[in-house]
Amino acid sequence: MATIFSQIISGEIPSDIVFRDDRVTAFRDINPSAPTHILIVPNKEIATVDDVTGEDEALLGHMIVVAKDIARKEGISESGYRLIINCKSDGGQEIFHLHMHLLGGKRLGPMLAK
Ligand code: 5GP
Repeated sequence: MATIFSQIISGEIPSDIVFRDDRVTAFRDINPSAPTHILIVPNKEIATVDDVTGEDEALLGHMIVVAKDIARKEGISESGYRLIINCKSDGGQEIFHLHMHLLGGKRLGPMLAK
C-alpha cells in the first residue's frame, strides 16, 4: 500500500514541496519541531533504514547532498542544523517510508531527551 509520503510525492496529497528531482522529494514537515523542518524522502518506497541495500548507497548519499543544498537555501548553513533518520519503533519512526529530517533555525539542544 502506498504510504502517505508516496501520495505526497505523486501529488495526490498536497504539501509544501521545496525540492524535487527524479530520486528524491523534499517538503516541509506538517508539524515542525524547529523553524526549518524539512523531510527529504526517496521517491522509491523503502520502508526503513533496515531495508536499505547496497543498491541504495548512491541514493542515500544524494539525500545528504540535497539536504545540504536545501540548508543553504534556507539560510541555516552557517548556524548549523541536524539530519535525523528514525528507524522503527525504538527510533521513533511513524511513517514507514524512509526519510531524513532536516532541522535547524534554532539551537536544537542535546541530541536525545534524557
Ligand atoms: P518519523 O517520526 O516517521 O521520523 O517522522 C514522520 C514525520 O512526518 C513527522 O515529523 C510528521 O510531523 C510528518 N508528517 C506526518 N504526516 C505528514 C503529512 O501528511 N505531511 C507532512 N508534510 N508531514 C507529515
